[in-house]
Amino acid sequence: MLTIDEARAALQAREFTDFPECALCGADDAEPFLTVDDGCKLVKCKRCSLVYTSPRFDESWWERFVREEDNSRNVSFTENRLAHGVALRRNVASQPEDWRAHVTKKSQIVLDDLRSVMKRPLTSLHDVGCGVGFLISDARDAGLEVSGNELNGYAVKVMCERLGLDARVGSLHEVGLASESRDAVTMTDYIEHTYHPLRDFQEAFRITRPGGGLFVHTFRIDCRKFEEKGAAWDMLRWNHVYHFSTQTLTAMITAAGFEPATIIAGPRRNDIKIIAVKPL
Ligand SMILES: [Zn+2]
Repeated sequence: MLTIDEARAALQAREFTDFPECALCGADDAEPFLTVDDGCKLVKCKRCSLVYTSPRFDESWWERFVREEDNSRNVSFTENRLAHGVALRRNVASQPEDWRAHVTKKSQIVLDDLRSVMKRPLTSLHDVGCGVGFLISDARDAGLEVSGNELNGYAVKVMCERLGLDARVGSLHEVGLASESRDAVTMTDYIEHTYHPLRDFQEAFRITRPGGGLFVHTFRIDCRKFEEKGAAWDMLRWNHVYHFSTQTLTAMITAAGFEPATIIAGPRRNDIKIIAVKPL
């Protein structure tokens, strides 16, 4: 079992050796875009303008690292999030006392957003990268049938054993959900981390029933914060692999078959929220 310090050292020592093709259009024709303050190099696809980290950690090493059930980084992130709503101990002090009520309010907004665009009732939901299960717990309390998948093996163990949730270890394509078995799929602060965003959207499309919804939330590079901070913006650091703009995220969701219905990325927002529908 790695200690937190050992895990950090392993991350720092590991070289970025994986030079991926563009996940949106498949082109192997990207040009340097920006070197982030932490040393990460971002490139931009010349064909479709998708911005992503390249090179990045080797995928199999990274997946093994993230999945270790007894990795103390996973243990500490999970327990901190369950107890305080944040992964890092240094952020605990700034959490409001009623942080869990705020989380539930956010979950309610996700469900309302989905209902506002869906062409079928919302009775079941699958959350991709479900963290420690806050959204699916809240959705279950609201009467939905819920499930989630997550790479952090320790978090999945806790969600199953302590919270009684249907949480599964692995990427969406690995957990084997039946086609058209869910009314909605959600991805909150997930898509920037995955190595295969288009595959995830396509898989979400497969498991969603016709008329069902997709909810996606991430940060976006076509925002004022990026203009102001550039390479110093902490959202661009190594643990984020894809750096979507309003245009590239909309294009990728559309490429997977969904019809984006609501796109919220106002001039003052650093983030983007897209709620899309699987056509009837
Ligand atoms: Zn491309």
